[in-house]
Amino acid sequence: MKFTDLNPHGGIGANCSFCQVGPFRFVIDSGLHPKYAGNESLPRHDRIQPGTLDFILLTHCHLDHLGSLPLLARLHPQAPVFLSYPSSILIRRMLSNSLAVMKRQRSELKLPELPLYGRSDLSALYDRMEIMPIGEPMIFEKDGQEMEITAYHAGHVAGAVSFDLKYEGKHIFFTGDLLFNDLRTLEGAQLPRHPVDLLVMETTRGVSERPAGQQREAEIVRLLQDIRKTLKRGGSALVPVFALGRMQEMLVVLDEARKNKALPPSPVFCSGLGMDLVNHIHQISQNFSRINFSRKVLRSLGVQPLPRRLQPGEPLPMQGIYLVSSGMMVENTPSYMLASSMLGDDRNGIFFVGYCDPSTPGGQLLQGQPGEEFLFEAVDLKEKIRATIRQYDLSGHADRDELLAFARSVSPRKILLHHGDPEARAWFSSQFEQNDLPVLDPEPLIEYEV
Ligand SMILES: [Zn+2]
Ligand SMILES: [Zn+2]
Repeated sequence: MKFTDLNPHGGIGANCSFCQVGPFRFVIDSGLHPKYAGNESLPRHDRIQPGTLDFILLTHCHLDHLGSLPLLARLHPQAPVFLSYPSSILIRRMLSNSLAVMKRQRSELKLPELPLYGRSDLSALYDRMEIMPIGEPMIFEKDGQEMEITAYHAGHVAGAVSFDLKYEGKHIFFTGDLLFNDLRTLEGAQLPRHPVDLLVMETTRGVSERPAGQQREAEIVRLLQDIRKTLKRGGSALVPVFALGRMQEMLVVLDEARKNKALPPSPVFCSGLGMDLVNHIHQISQNFSRINFSRKVLRSLGVQPLPRRLQPGEPLPMQGIYLVSSGMMVENTPSYMLASSMLGDDRNGIFFVGYCDPSTPGGQLLQGQPGEEFLFEAVDLKEKIRATIRQYDLSGHADRDELLAFARSVSPRKILLHHGDPEARAWFSSQFEQNDLPVLDPEPLIEYEV
């Protein structure tokens, strides 16, 4: 296989892998870099001659995998786009939200190239989507050659899949984003364990060691205790979440805790995209046994929309639990605005349940010390850090030891590192080298023959 990582910044960012296997030319995922905007956030689609892809595969609907797919599809109008059934539902909501955000950013960030695509690009893409089966091979033919591609459940988020590509008797396994643990709303990955020749593996958690006692359930208990303490002392709890997946999971966690009396009654507020996705994931769960989610949780918890007239830095009009995006408290999102109102009051708590890139406001707040000033640059406001700030390890990605064990179980002849920061990849490299497993950490934009 010839492999080129088209994500120019390396790390996680704008996932986009250009692969050539025999006569077949295809791309897996086409994302946007969450830390950049406009052209800066794009993968280098220009490295592929327009109109030459045979097909495009999508692993799942997080924007770092999906956000630039309409552009790639426009450059390759003949290439069908294969995705799972849940992704075929979620893609529409995620991309129309992405388009709305880009339109807003056009004036906010003064980027004339925004929005990067329009409604007509989206409908052209939707017309070319093909739902792929899971666990059953699809057969592709070109120039008298055959390739088999099988999608497997990858856990992580509704609809996420890994791919097994079989060509001339050899297997290439592409993990995509992966979670082995079952969540309350989603069953964990179910991968084949046959030997593979080449393993392309995500490495997100290469630097996060999970200490004993910090298992997922223990982390949920710790989070619920902190929310309870916060509410008891008259404060509000802000839980920044990713709208897709994490928000729905946390709704179920809160509902369960409320029913078990682990949380006192209090209003729960949610916002925008995550609330819409509640309906989509409910709909998918009716036809997809691995997703266990009902929108009844909204009524059971008494979820309310965000109070109107929230002003940056002004005290909140109502005490409660605020479950809102973005998970990394990115500028001008509901979690960012709410944090500006909550940070200066020591009764409040801000509780991160996912990874925050260190350069995002969420990541910066996590590095701050109590009593220090924190700048909300986008709203030109400084607040002293008085609220409790905590983070819980509830990652949607497999632990590094689980990934190592998986890699060993499929005895690959070579491993290609993917979807991880440089330090995370370095950890995996050294582990594999110690085990005499040939490993490659590809540089962006360089074609490797593997
Ligand atoms: Zn993901
Ligand atoms: Zn990802």
